[in-house]
Amino acid sequence: MYRAPRGTADILPEEQAYWRYVEAKAAEACQLYGYQRLDTPLFEEAALFTRSIGEGTDIVTKEMYVFKDRSGKALALRPEGTAPVCRAYIEHGMDNLPQPVKLYYLAPAFRYERPQAGRYRQHHQFGCEAIGDADPALDAEVIHLACQFFTSLGLRGITVQLNSIGCRACRPAYVKALKEHYQERAGDICPDCKTRLEKNPLRLLDCKREECQQVADSSPRSTDYLCADCRSHFRAVTEYLQSLTLPFSLNHRLVRGLDYYTRTVFEVQPLAGGAQSALGGGGRYDDLIEQLGGKPAPAVGFAAGMDRVVLSLKKQGIAVPPLPSPGVFIAHLGNEAKTEAVKLAASLRAQGIGVVMATGDRSLKAQLRQADSLSAGYAIIIGDEEIKERKLTLRNMVSGEQQRLSAAELREALQRAA
Ligand code: AMP
Repeated sequence: MYRAPRGTADILPEEQAYWRYVEAKAAEACQLYGYQRLDTPLFEEAALFTRSIGEGTDIVTKEMYVFKDRSGKALALRPEGTAPVCRAYIEHGMDNLPQPVKLYYLAPAFRYERPQAGRYRQHHQFGCEAIGDADPALDAEVIHLACQFFTSLGLRGITVQLNSIGCRACRPAYVKALKEHYQERAGDICPDCKTRLEKNPLRLLDCKREECQQVADSSPRSTDYLCADCRSHFRAVTEYLQSLTLPFSLNHRLVRGLDYYTRTVFEVQPLAGGAQSALGGGGRYDDLIEQLGGKPAPAVGFAAGMDRVVLSLKKQGIAVPPLPSPGVFIAHLGNEAKTEAVKLAASLRAQGIGVVMATGDRSLKAQLRQADSLSAGYAIIIGDEEIKERKLTLRNMVSGEQQRLSAAELREALQRAA
């Protein structure tokens, strides 16, 4: 028996209404804020991710699905969406367009993580990127878009956490202070943090291990080390958020897991969120385009985990609009009736009416049971009598009411009902 690979899941038909709802709300939010959709390939050159996300990050060292194709080229399944969007921005000369260029995507992402509730090896992201503008108003707008998306879904209790991790000018002094703080307490931290201290010191701050909490809480704050430009940028972001009456809390331990972030970083948490609960996050990445070979272009973006959004919708008992069910089910008895059914199904579909026609030779009762389970609005029944009278029986599946109609009357009745 084959099973879906560990950490992946089938999205079954009964789940689809949630996913279509989330996708529709994402597209709606993007339309409101002027973002255009971009689809990039499922895999890219592995080096694109190594260079952007960072050599020392968990994603690159432990989680990326890397493989060689038949020509020996190292490729990777997309572990996140920002680097591919930046690659496309550079490749297609989007720096020649009016800036910022605002793009969004809905796409699966792949990370070899330890699967648990809300953490999968294939998950799905909705992401937005605004490239080519350093204005702090754009940071605030991206955060606003994220919140607008979550609240438009009906989710309650969304909170925003915010931090600034500075730029390449001021961050080194902060990282030095952070390292010194941890080096003085090296005996109190977990083995992973000892490695982080060498390889990726910012990540020390989001260690979840009990023994590291006190060291992380008492660590120096990046916001105390910001250069004048980063400080005024961060102040402006907070002021814009206040003017939008968008509530947020400052979290000096928020650093995010990817190396490309500069200045603003933020995360969105759901009601009663735990450690693995961020619904989305993002921030500025002012150096990334240049690092990937483009002309310098400051940028800001965010990504939401759609799987976690669906989990939250269910947890909060939010009803989503059902997907349309077939308008009509055609039941038939006898060979002649079946041929009529085949023809009628085709002609109704040509008129844009969704039809499921019974197949096989089941009893009328069994066929109507199927119509019920498909939630068809109407069943058309064709039997010996209908053939003889050149008529059809139309059954309203909700009221059970039946009428015998000519083909023309049937079309009219269905059009009226549509
Ligand atoms: P990140 O690129 O890590 O900032 O991820 C953006 C969002 O995607 C997170 O806030 C989560 O909601 C979601 N996410 C990240 N990794 C996973 C995963 N392994 N499984 C499910 N959702 C994830």
